[in-house]
This record gives sequence, structure tokens and C-alpha cells, in this order.
Amino acid sequence: MPELPEVEVVRRGLERWVAGRTVESVEVLHPRAVRRHPGGGADFAARLRGETLGVPQRRGKYLWLPLAGRDLAVLGHLGMSGQLLVQPEDAPDEKHLRIRVRFGDGAGTELRFVDQRTFGGLSLHETAADGADALPDVIAHIARDPLDPLFDEAAYHLALRAKRTTVKRALLDQSLISGVGNIYADEALWRAKLHYERPTAHLTRPRSAELLGHVRDVMNAALAVGGTSFDSLYVNVNGESGYFDRSLDAYGREDEPCRRCGAPIRRRPWMNRSSYFCPRCQRPPRVPS
Ligand SMILES: [Zn+2]
Repeated sequence: MPELPEVEVVRRGLERWVAGRTVESVEVLHPRAVRRHPGGGADFAARLRGETLGVPQRRGKYLWLPLAGRDLAVLGHLGMSGQLLVQPEDAPDEKHLRIRVRFGDGAGTELRFVDQRTFGGLSLHETAADGADALPDVIAHIARDPLDPLFDEAAYHLALRAKRTTVKRALLDQSLISGVGNIYADEALWRAKLHYERPTAHLTRPRSAELLGHVRDVMNAALAVGGTSFDSLYVNVNGESGYFDRSLDAYGREDEPCRRCGAPIRRRPWMNRSSYFCPRCQRPPRVPS
């Protein structure tokens, strides 16, 4: 599942390669890839034809392409395996090519949505008419993400204290903070030396500020690595945070020594996923919540 840094790398690639280009035609090769578009594939293609793509936007893991001068945007759902590729027009079709967008501007490239498992897709939505930050209506409830300059730290802290929940659940709650997934939550909690089951009600303001700082650091580190891979024509995102794997401290490191204290990293089942933590650096709360 791509997380915020991977999606931001895709957004930057799209900004470089497709922003400002006018759609000549759209080919929908699999109906599942447009199942979130209410009018279906033919309607999706017809409504995009002749439209010019604006600067791609992102909030959390959500990515959208505003249509220039319109209160409309194409929302991209990457799902588990979705990829947005900018390819030469004469490149052979990918086996799992689902949607093709042609531009006909002589630049020689096209936008392709490729998805092996077809959990993802593209859909056209109305947006609030208040500038580039305008969100597609279906994601209007998604909170700002920690890399957003307008993220409200004071409000986040108050919401944490008010919510009777545990710290990792709160990090993954998209109505409080968006874009933090399982991998970066475990990494930030390891850096903050916080056990994932710690109740948020007892989290002090300096502690939650420190945790947010670690969330930002771990995402920026991933961006710094991934940011080098979008320089080519090939804009890509896949199911795992591949390029960041080697610098993970907790996630995926079961039984490997903690890089801080040497204790073996533990993995525990957590909400149909796993939590990785150091049993020595990240002590569980005394009273399980
Ligand atoms: Zn440790």
C-alpha cells in the first residue's frame, strides 16, 4: 500500500510530465478501474476530452488532477497495486493497463493507469471552488497531513487528548491526521520510544509534538530518497515502500536487533495488520487499554 511519501513522489512526477497538457482522448480498458466514476467508462472518457490538466494535488495518500478553469478533478485511487505511468506513446502496453490518456500535443508521451489487482482507479468529481487546494467532494472529510503547512498542531493535540483511543490508532485516523499508514506509524513510534498501545489521553503536549516531529522526519527521509527516482520519465508507485526499505528501523524487522539498544524487534498482530516495536525502548502501558 503506497503511503504519503510514495504518493507525493508520484504527484511530483505528474506535475512535471502532465500538468498543463490537454486531453485528446481517453481509453478505458477495464470497467473496474472507473467503478468509482458514477457515469461509467464512456462518460469518464467523454467528460475528460478537451480538458486541460492543472497542477496535481495531494492530501495524505489522496492524489487528484484538477481540470484547469473548472470545479472538477480526476481523483486517482492507487489501491494496493495501482501505478500512474507517463510512457512514450509507442511503448508496448503493460499487461495490466486499465486506462490510457492521450494528449495529442506532439510531446510523444501518454498517461497510463496500470493496476494488476484493480482495487484502484480513476474517477471525476466536483471540487469546492476555492483555488488549487480545493478537494474533490468525496475526500472533503480527510484531515490535512503533517507535511501540509496549514496542519493545525494545537487542534491535533486537543483532539488526541479528547479522543479515548491509543496512539497508533490515532496516527492512522484519517479524520485527525491523514497520510500516516502502518509503516510510517511504526517508524515514528520507534523514534519517539512510544508503545503503540499508549492511551492518547495521557499524552502531554511536548510528547505529541515530539511524535509529530518524528512522523515528519520519517516521511521527509522517505521523500528525500524517493525524490531522486522521479527524475526519469517513468513515474511509478508500487505496493511497498521499496526504495525506503533499507532505512527502516522497526517495520519489517522482526527478531532483528533494535538499532538503539540491541533487543530483538517484536511483531504483534494489530487490527488485521502488524505492529513492530522494540520491547525495551517502547514499554507497553501499565494498564492495557
Ligand atoms: Zn530498543
